[in-house]
Amino acid sequence: THFGFETVPESEKAKKVYKVFENVAQKYDTMNDAMSLGIHRLWKDMLLHAMRPQPGVHLLDVAGGTGDIAFRFLEYVRAQRERQKRRAPSWRDISEDEDEVAPRESRAVVCDINKEMLRVGKRKADSAGISAGLSWVAGDAEELPFGDDLFDVYTIAFGIRNVTRIDQALQEALRVLKPGGRFMCLEFSKVTNPVLSRLYDEYSFKMIPVLGEVIAGDWKSYQYLVESIRKFPDQEEFKHMIEDAGFYCVKYHNFTGGVVALHSGFKL
Ligand code: SAM
Repeated sequence: THFGFETVPESEKAKKVYKVFENVAQKYDTMNDAMSLGIHRLWKDMLLHAMRPQPGVHLLDVAGGTGDIAFRFLEYVRAQRERQKRRAPSWRDISEDEDEVAPRESRAVVCDINKEMLRVGKRKADSAGISAGLSWVAGDAEELPFGDDLFDVYTIAFGIRNVTRIDQALQEALRVLKPGGRFMCLEFSKVTNPVLSRLYDEYSFKMIPVLGEVIAGDWKSYQYLVESIRKFPDQEEFKHMIEDAGFYCVKYHNFTGGVVALHSGFKL
C-alpha cells in the first residue's frame, strides 16, 4: 500500500481523538470543572487577561470545543466597551461626531474538528443569548478552512496536544493571522516544582480516569487525556517549535506551577 510507516499511527491518533471528544461532548463542561476543581476557569480567564482584546478584534479559537474561550472573549470586549462608554467624556468625545468613533464589531470564530463538541457549544451560546458575533465552523487545525491574513488573534486552549502534526497546525496559525497578529496557546505543561509534580502525578494518573468513569462512564477517554499530557513537549521545547514555525517574540508564562503554560508569539 502507499501508506507510509508514519501515516498509519497518525491517522489512528486522529480517529481516537475524534472518538474521545464525541464520547465526552455532553459531559465535557462538567468533567472540566470536576477534574480541574474549577481551576480551568481561572486559566482561561488568565488567557483573556493576557490578551486584553480591544473592541473590534477578530478572534479565531481553534479546537474551541464548547466555546469557553470565545465566550470569555466576547464578554471581555463587551465589558471593555461598557467601561469606555462610562468613562468621563474627554474633549475628544465632545469635539467629534459619534459616528466617526463607532468601533468595528468584535467577532469570534470557534473552529473544531468535532461536530458534537460544536453542537454542545452552539446550544450553550443560544440558550445564554450570546450568539451575536459568534460563529461555529467545523475544521481541522492542520488544514484550516480560512483564507490568509484574516484574524487578529489565534487561540488554542487545551487543543494542540490532540493535534497529530503540531508543526503543521502552527504553520496554519501563522497563515491565517494578519501581520501583527498574535498566537496564544494554553496547554498542560511540565510541573516545575518537584513536590507539586509528585502530587500532580498521583492525582492525574489515579484520579482522572476514575472521575471519567464515575461522571461520564468512560475510563479510556480520560486515560488517553492523562497520557497525552505526559507526551506533550515541555515549555522550552514547545517555545522552540513555535519559533521554528516562524513566530516572533515567543514567550511563555507558567500557571499553577507549570501544570499549564501560556505560550504566545507574533506574526510579523
Ligand atoms: N478549547 C476548549 C476548552 O478549552 O475547553 C476545548 C478543549 S478540548 C480538551 C480539545 C478539543 O480539540 C476538542 O474539542 C477536539 O475535538 C479538538 N480537536 C482535536 N483535534 C483537532 C484538530 N486536529 N483540529 C481541530 N480541533 C481538534
